[in-house]
Amino acid sequence: MAGVGDQGRPLGRRLDLVEVLGGQAGQGNDVVLPRTELAEAAGIAAGDGVLVDEWLETIAPGVYAAGDVAAAWHPLLRTRLRVAHWATALHQGPVAARAMLGLPTRYERLPSFFSDQYDVSMEYSGLATASDRVVVRVIRRRADSSSSGCAVSMWSPA
Ligand SMILES: Cc1cc2nc3c(=O)[nH]c(=O)nc-3n(C[C@H](O)[C@H](O)[C@H](O)COP(=O)(O)OP(=O)(O)OC[C@H]3O[C@@H](n4cnc5c(N)ncnc54)[C@H](O)[C@@H]3O)c2cc1C
Repeated sequence: MAGVGDQGRPLGRRLDLVEVLGGQAGQGNDVVLPRTELAEAAGIAAGDGVLVDEWLETIAPGVYAAGDVAAAWHPLLRTRLRVAHWATALHQGPVAARAMLGLPTRYERLPSFFSDQYDVSMEYSGLATASDRVVVRVIRRRADSSSSGCAVSMWSPA
């Protein structure tokens, strides 16, 4: 999609770097697929996202990726992660900027997200895998309380 300025001049090319599939917007079951064609056309390695190291630099020196489109090496989890959540985009941007300024810092935050689905709020932190054991603890609402209660799910290696 081409952007147009107030004088009718093109602003450049708007890059839709990810594609949202399935589910209805905001209902929590969307699948976000990265669009890596531009990076690949430039000779930058990509797979499930644009591949970057823990400083968020691609294999092309001086070229960085952050947020939904970036598949970053996580130095603590020792794996490559592409996290399509707001908090990651928020925190990876400054890390990429620091690297560009010659002040490299590793991006080593654990994945996390929050989401509000109607009147239910969810928070998640860490990295669960399909083979992990799930423990759910339900904290029921007390009859004399105005709180709505909550459930805590914990994942541990099976
Ligand atoms: C329906 C929906 C619901 C979501 N709900 C949650 C949630 O509850 N919790 C959560 O943690 N995350 C949620 N997310 C995910 C979260 O919104 C994304 O992870 C986050 O916005 C990604 O940020 P980003 O900067 O990587 O990409 P974007 O937010 O897509 O930002 C990219 C920006 O770059 C701009 N751009 C593109 N090309 C150019 C160009 N050539 N020049 C200048 N600018 C350009 C675009 O206009 C855009 O503003 C949701 C996403 C969707 C789609």
